[in-house]
Amino acid sequence: MEIKSIQLKAKKDEGIRRRHPWVFSGAIKNLEAGILDGALVQVHSNKGGHLGYGHYSKGTSIAIRMISFDETIPTGSFFQDKIKQAVAVRQDLGLINSDGQNTCRLVHAEGDGLPGLIVDYYDRVAVVQTHSLGMHHSLEWIIEALKAELKDNLVGVYNKSAKVLRKNGHVTNLDTWVHGNAPENWNAQEHGNAYVIDLVEGQKTGFFIDQRENRLLLGQLSKGKRVLNTFSYTGGFSVSALQGGATEVHSLDSSARALEIGEANVAKNGYSSDVHQSIQADALDYLKNGVADFDIVVLDPPAFAKSASARHAAIQGYKRINLRALETMKPGSLLMTFSCSQAVDDRMFTNTVIAAAIQAGRTARILYRLHQPADHPVSAFHPEGAYLKGLVVRVE
Ligand code: SAH
Repeated sequence: MEIKSIQLKAKKDEGIRRRHPWVFSGAIKNLEAGILDGALVQVHSNKGGHLGYGHYSKGTSIAIRMISFDETIPTGSFFQDKIKQAVAVRQDLGLINSDGQNTCRLVHAEGDGLPGLIVDYYDRVAVVQTHSLGMHHSLEWIIEALKAELKDNLVGVYNKSAKVLRKNGHVTNLDTWVHGNAPENWNAQEHGNAYVIDLVEGQKTGFFIDQRENRLLLGQLSKGKRVLNTFSYTGGFSVSALQGGATEVHSLDSSARALEIGEANVAKNGYSSDVHQSIQADALDYLKNGVADFDIVVLDPPAFAKSASARHAAIQGYKRINLRALETMKPGSLLMTFSCSQAVDDRMFTNTVIAAAIQAGRTARILYRLHQPADHPVSAFHPEGAYLKGLVVRVE
């Protein structure tokens, strides 16, 4: 395997020596001639020392995603090793094939030492999402490693990368099964609840696995309550609230397809449509009508800031939507509010919600501070990986 080299500018090796996996394009001094987009490259410091290997992305701000900081060239056995560790973490957490629990994130990119790779797992089906061309080129190794580690716990692998790769400027094959297929009795479950996973049309890999723990908490808070679940997608929070004994749940989303699957999920878990209602609307518009009918309001919008430059606008967006809810919530009710924007950190988000409460003239107490679950680990070398944050606020 021929590996070409990239040399960094003076002092630009510091982050890499701390094992932070990103090299920005401005840090590059020299590119060896003929390096192709998506190539595995060897990275050298300004003085020529070996720093490791990474995937090169042409024309993007993160020019290299470091894969390995060792001397050995990362090939199939490297992927085997990383995926073995990643699977062991989830197996030890009881997330892979426990009773009523077979849905988790198997590989969380930088958090598992594999920048550019997401693998989600739904009852014997792995959904692979490669975010870089370099990872896309490694697909065969990834599939082999998944098969070797999961054995009977793997029946199919679906590659769902076309959209994310296209967004990053790459044209690839269409999304497709790359190994096996969905099992006949396919039954993705979380906390004993069964969910329809729309691999083909669904957002992300078909489900928002990262809210698992927070759904459990909502269930615990929901007994005898009326719950409004905004940005409900396929109804994960709604089913959890019903499981916890909510008397009525309203799911709100702008997508008719998401609401349809949400209704299927409510029915699949044995809840009558008498206790559940879908609302297709824009969340901000709907909140203007007032939410005093509800004891709990969930706000889980899509990422408002996809990059640091969008941070300011994103914070305004979070403030507006939280303010709208807080203005009319009834005394003693709970707001469960989230941000999944990587560029908005915990503190900024908390301050934004507090600012909204002050502007709404409400007394607010923070009861819980919420995060992404253990199968979305944060590498000590890459603190930016902590992207999901949330609060449960009691409003008087
Ligand atoms: N809470 C969900 C995940 C939310 S994903 C879960 O646990 O599965 C964000 C959702 O917001 C998507 O379903 C998307 O269709 C919806 N959405 C995006 N913009 C919206 C808007 N302006 N009003 C209402 N829903 C919106």
